[in-house]
Amino acid sequence: MILVINCGSSSLKYELFTLSDECSVANGIAERVGVNGGTEAVLKHRCGGSSRETRTPMPDHAVALRQVLDALVGCECRALDSLDQIRAIGHRVVHGGERFSESVVIDDEVIAAIEAMCELAPLHNPANLVGIRACQQLLPRVPQVAVFDTAFHQTMPVHAYLYGLPYELYEKHGIRRYGFHGTSHRYVSGIASDMLLERGLPREEQKIVTCHLGNGCSMAAVKGGKCVDTTMGLTPLEGLLMGTRCGDLDPAVPLYLMDQLKMTNKQVDTIMNKESGLLGVSGVSNDMRDIQRTKAENPRSQAALDIFCYRVRKYIGAYAAAMGGVNAVVFTAGIGENDPPLVAQVMDGLEFLGLYLDPVRNAQPKPNSIGWDLATDDSPGRIYIIPTDEERTIARDAKQLVAAL
Ligand code: ADP
Repeated sequence: MILVINCGSSSLKYELFTLSDECSVANGIAERVGVNGGTEAVLKHRCGGSSRETRTPMPDHAVALRQVLDALVGCECRALDSLDQIRAIGHRVVHGGERFSESVVIDDEVIAAIEAMCELAPLHNPANLVGIRACQQLLPRVPQVAVFDTAFHQTMPVHAYLYGLPYELYEKHGIRRYGFHGTSHRYVSGIASDMLLERGLPREEQKIVTCHLGNGCSMAAVKGGKCVDTTMGLTPLEGLLMGTRCGDLDPAVPLYLMDQLKMTNKQVDTIMNKESGLLGVSGVSNDMRDIQRTKAENPRSQAALDIFCYRVRKYIGAYAAAMGGVNAVVFTAGIGENDPPLVAQVMDGLEFLGLYLDPVRNAQPKPNSIGWDLATDDSPGRIYIIPTDEERTIARDAKQLVAAL
């Protein structure tokens, strides 16, 4: 079995996969870990079609992991007979900086490197490290693998990753564009690549734009299997409009807020990360379903939706220019997989790029599949929906790296 762990500052998400065919056996989340001493913590565990919620104190992530392991061994469907069945652990790690362009087996040196990257991801990397250390403590003999959100984007050329700032800021402080959601972009662009290959287009000629539209949103331009650009930057704040993040912004805006409106940097940070995006523009919600539901009566919801779609469309155009064309656009994550009217709004007007959406295919219910093609039969470019699967991708990386040990 392979255990996948995604540790946040107060949460621990997990999923257990079989080693042979990477089938998901159980998953869940421990929430409010360490909040108010962990007294309000809850473990939501799903296994074999049933789910269970347990309220139990979890003062830290080691205790949370203990609860998770107990649930995996102790639940009615017995996801595990014993902890010895866990052969590998895969961790989602947010920031791998320039050091990691692929997944790695974790050792002391890798831990030190992840620690050194905490400056670049002060909210995420420390939490990921806590998860790694909790696993080392409770499962000391099981090899662990780190899978980085930034790794897939490390193939970006200099002109895509450098900001127009003094070069020393890059050299001395690592200030450049890194990009995130790399595991998702890698997975869905890989499936899209298989689909294009089936249609006779060799991998090295493929130009794919992937749109990961969930709570956080980002896009990537993938040419011949390599990422050449992505919308997120030094942090996940750059690029598209998101649930609560503003995305692209004149860099003078935060200065204006601080100088003219006398806000503190903490207040500006909160505005840009937590109070902007769909929520900030609409005044209604950060959830696209609420935006769609209220757009007819609330012009601000309509505006939020229009900004959202306009930016995605704009970046598709930009990436077509960056790659010299586009053979497929891929939609994925919560919004990308579930909102046909939004896909139609984004694609409306992109026929000049050879991308023709079939409105019937777009509106049809989607039976379980690895991906769907929504383009018309004679459309030169394809429009795919491909459900993302970051956890399974992490499990596969862990399996591969541990098999080679
Ligand atoms: P995360 O980025 O946290 O992994 P998801 O990929 O699950 O998030 O995406 C969550 C978002 O997906 C929700 O906030 C909501 O806006 C959107 N979403 C989910 N289902 C639908 C739907 N049927 N229609 C439109 N948007 C949806």
